[in-house]
Amino acid sequence: MKQIYHFNEGNTTMKDLLGGKGANLAEMTQLGLPVPAGFTITTTACMQFLQQDDYFEQSLKEEVLKAIYRLETETGKSFLADSSILLVSVRSGAKFSMPGMMDTILNLGLNDKKVRDFARLTTPSFAYDCYRRLMQMFGDVVYGISKEQFDQILQKFETTFDKAPSYFSLAEQQEVIKAYKQLFDKQHKNFPQDPLEQLFTAIKAVFQSWNNERAQVYRNLHDIPFDLGTAVNVQSMVFGNSGEKSATGVAFTRNPATGEKKLFGEFLPNAQGEDVVAGIRTPQTIDKLKQLLSVAYSDFIDYAKILEDHYKDMQDIEFTIENGKLYILQTRSGKRTAQAALNIALDLVDDGTITKKEALLRITPTMVEQLIHPIFDPAELKSAKVLAKGLPASPGAASGQIVFTAERAKELHEEGKKVILVRQETSPEDIEGMVVSEAIVTSRGGMTSHAAVVARGMGTCCVAGCEELIVNETTQTVTCKGQTLIEGSTISVDGTTGTIYQAELKTVRPTDNQNLQRLLNWADKEAKLMVRANAENIQDLSAAINFGASGIGLARTEHMFFGEKRILEMRRLILAEDETSFEVALQRLLDFQQDDFYHMLQTVGEKPMVIRLLDPPMHEFLPTDPQTIQQLAKQLEKAPEQITKQIAQLHETNPMLGHRGCRLGITEARIYQMQVKAIFTSAIKLTQAGYSVKPEIMIPLVAEEKELIEVKNSLLRTIKNLFEASNVEPFPFEIGTMIELPRACMTADRLAKHADFFSFGTNDLTQMTYGFSRDDIGKFLPIYKEKGILTQDPFQTLDQAGVGKLIQTAVKKARQTNPNMMIGVCGEVGGDPNSISFFQQACVDYVSCSAYRIPAARLACGQAALNDCRIAEIAL
Ligand code: ADP
Ligand code: MG
Ligand code: MG
Repeated sequence: MKQIYHFNEGNTTMKDLLGGKGANLAEMTQLGLPVPAGFTITTTACMQFLQQDDYFEQSLKEEVLKAIYRLETETGKSFLADSSILLVSVRSGAKFSMPGMMDTILNLGLNDKKVRDFARLTTPSFAYDCYRRLMQMFGDVVYGISKEQFDQILQKFETTFDKAPSYFSLAEQQEVIKAYKQLFDKQHKNFPQDPLEQLFTAIKAVFQSWNNERAQVYRNLHDIPFDLGTAVNVQSMVFGNSGEKSATGVAFTRNPATGEKKLFGEFLPNAQGEDVVAGIRTPQTIDKLKQLLSVAYSDFIDYAKILEDHYKDMQDIEFTIENGKLYILQTRSGKRTAQAALNIALDLVDDGTITKKEALLRITPTMVEQLIHPIFDPAELKSAKVLAKGLPASPGAASGQIVFTAERAKELHEEGKKVILVRQETSPEDIEGMVVSEAIVTSRGGMTSHAAVVARGMGTCCVAGCEELIVNETTQTVTCKGQTLIEGSTISVDGTTGTIYQAELKTVRPTDNQNLQRLLNWADKEAKLMVRANAENIQDLSAAINFGASGIGLARTEHMFFGEKRILEMRRLILAEDETSFEVALQRLLDFQQDDFYHMLQTVGEKPMVIRLLDPPMHEFLPTDPQTIQQLAKQLEKAPEQITKQIAQLHETNPMLGHRGCRLGITEARIYQMQVKAIFTSAIKLTQAGYSVKPEIMIPLVAEEKELIEVKNSLLRTIKNLFEASNVEPFPFEIGTMIELPRACMTADRLAKHADFFSFGTNDLTQMTYGFSRDDIGKFLPIYKEKGILTQDPFQTLDQAGVGKLIQTAVKKARQTNPNMMIGVCGEVGGDPNSISFFQQACVDYVSCSAYRIPAARLACGQAALNDCRIAEIAL
C-alpha cells in the first residue's frame, strides 16, 4: 500500500490519511500557492508503526528514500550529498488540529561538515543559528533533553563573549556546538551526523509524539479518538531566520476574538517558526509588515483571500518570508471564540458564501452557552481597581485566586477553589492546569501564543502578553507597579477588554445578542421540537421568555413553600391536629400562592405554563435539628416532644418511593384543591384585567389510571365552581400528568384517555428504571465510568436503550388513544444537546430545560432537524 504522498498528489479531502496539515499543504500546492516542496507519510503508516511496538518497516524506509530522491530532483538540491544543501522539516499533523501538542523538528540534514559549507554559502551566524536550533529541537523531541538546558549554554557564551550569537565568530559558533554535543554526551545520547539517520529518527519521534501525555490529555478534552495516528510531513526548509529581509508569522483572515473581517496576525523579523507561537519574543502586528516587506505583504493579502474563498471559512495561516519571498507553510480553519464563530458565520451567510443551514451547523450548542456566559457587572466595574492591562486574548469574565504552576492549579481546584493561572507564558505541558483554571494570564506572548490559542479553544477567558506584570515563577510572586501579589491573592480577569482587576467582581448575564437571536430564529424555523423552560421564580421566568422559550414546561410549586413565613404555615398545616388549625394554615397558604401565581402568569402571558402540583413527601418541609424544633414548638404553641413524635411518624424508609406526588393529592385532596384555587383565582383576575393566560395543571407521579381520574375530577369540580362564581367566560386550560414511572409508560394508552398532555420527568423515570438513586449515584458512577460500564451519567444524558425505549413506547401508546395530545420532556436531559435528537425521533413536541440552557437547546433542536437522517440507532 502507498504510504507516502507528495504534496502534488493529495488534496483537502484526504485528512484521514494525510492529516489536516498534510491534506491542506497538498490542496494549496494544487491551487498553485508557494508551498515549499515536500511529502506526507500517512496516518496508516503511523498506526502500523505504533501497533508493531515502534518497528519501522523496511518497505517504509525504502519509500522514504525514494521520496527524498524525488524531493532532491524537485528542489535541485541535495539532502544526502554535501553539495547544494537541502534541509527539511519533519512536521506532525493529525486529522484534527491539536496545536502544539505533538512535535516538529526543523533544519534536518545539517552536520558538522555541512554547516561549515552552509556557512560559506550563506553567513556563519545564519548557518549556525540553524544548526543550534536543529540540535536543540532534536535533543528535546527525540531524547527529552529540555530546551532550557540548551538555552543556558547559549546564554553562558553570550556572557563570556559579551555579544549576541549573531555576532559570534566561526570559532565561537563551533564552541557552542561543542558544548551542545557535550550535553548530549552527558545524557549518554548521540546527535547523529548522518542526515538519513537524523531523518528516520525524527520521523519515529513524531510518530511517537501521537501518544505523548499532553496529546492524550488534549484528545480526551476534545473527544478526539485515540486510534487515528498522526501523519508526518517532510518538507524542504525555507528560512525566515536568514536576515533582515526574512520573517516568520501567523495570521488569521479575520479577528479570531471578535470575527471582524480584517487580517489579524503577527510576525517576527529574522526568526524561525516556533518563535512566534512559543511567545519567546513579543511579535509585531501584521500591518507593520507592510512597511518592512511590502511585496511579501501584498502577496500575503492576496493568498489569504484566495484561501478564505476556497475553504469558505476563516483561515489560520502560517507563513515564512525568505529574502523577501513569501511561502505559505500551513492553513486550517482558525480556532475562534464563540462570538467570532457566530459573527463570521452570519457574515458568510450575508455575503452569499454559505447557506443559513450551513451556518446553523457551524455553531455548537457549547458555543451558544459561552455566548450567554456572565460578564462583569458594569456597575461594579466603574469603581474597580485596575491592576494591569494586556491583550484581550479570549473573552469572558472570571474571578479567582492566583496560582503560578499547572500543578498548583490542579491541587487547589481539587480543593474546590477557583484558580487563575498566571505565568510568563504557557506551554503544552500546562494543559491540565489550564483546563481547571477560571482564567489564564500571561506576561509574554501575543494573540496567537499558546495560551491565547488554547484558551479560545476551551472557551476560557484569557489575557495574554500583559507586560506590566513581572511574573517570577521561582519566588511564586507577581509584581506590578511596585506591588507584589502571592499565590492565593484574588484577582478578576476580563478577557474581552484585556483588563485585570485587583478585586473580586460580581458578574451578570448578557441577554441582548442580536446576532445570536438571528441565528436562533433560523434554528426555530428548522426545528421540529419546541423549547420550553423549567422555571418558577419571576427572574427565571422572564429570562426564559427573553431567551425565546415557547412556554414554561415545568413550574414547580414546592419551592414557594420555603420562604420564611410560608414554611411556618406549611409546617402548621402538616402538624395540624384539628380541623381549625388545618384550615387556618391552608387559607394562609392560599393567599401566598394566589399572589405568586398572579405574578407568574402575568410574566408568562399568553404562552402556556405547566404548573406542577405539590410533589415531595411532607417530611421534607419539617425541621430535623433540635434547635429549630424548639423554635417551631414555640411558634405553634406545642410541646417540642409532640413535634418530634409527629416527625418520627412521618418518617419513611424509602422517601422517593413513599407518600408523595399524587398520592398526597389522594389522601388529602384539600392541598391540591387549594393550589388549583390559587391558580384559577389569579388567572380569572388576570383575564378580567385583559391578560390572556394559559395554565396547564400537571399531576405528578401517576402510576395508575384511577389515580389520575380521582385527582382530575376533584380538581375539575374546584375549577368549575370558580368559573361559576366569577361570571368570567371560561378560558382554555389543560390538566395533564407527568410520566415518570415505568408503569405509567407501559399504560400510557390508558392514562392518555384522561390527560390533555403528558410530560416525561426523566429524572424520576431514570431513577425508577435503573434503580439508581439520584442522590447516591455519585458513590459509584466514577468507578462505573472508569471500568467502561457506563460512559455517561444517565441523569445528564438520556439512557436511550432503556429509559429511551420506555419513552418511545409511551409516546406510541399515548397517541393511539389521544392522537393530538401535547407531549414534552421536562427532566434534566431535556436541555442536553445529545439527547435532543433522540426526543425528536421519538416524536415528542417539546423539551423543557432551565432558562439559561434555552438558547443552546433551540440551536440543538434546529440542528437535530437538519441532521435527521444521522440519528443514532438505538440498541434494543
Ligand atoms: P505545529 O503543528 O505545532 O504548528 P508545525 O509543523 O506547523 O507545528 O511547525 C511549526 C513551525 O515551524 C511552522 O509554523 C513554521 O513556521 C516552521 N516550519 C515548519 N516547516 C517549515 C519549513 N519547511 N520551512 C520553514 N519553516 C518551517
Ligand atoms: Mg503549525
Ligand atoms: Mg418527579
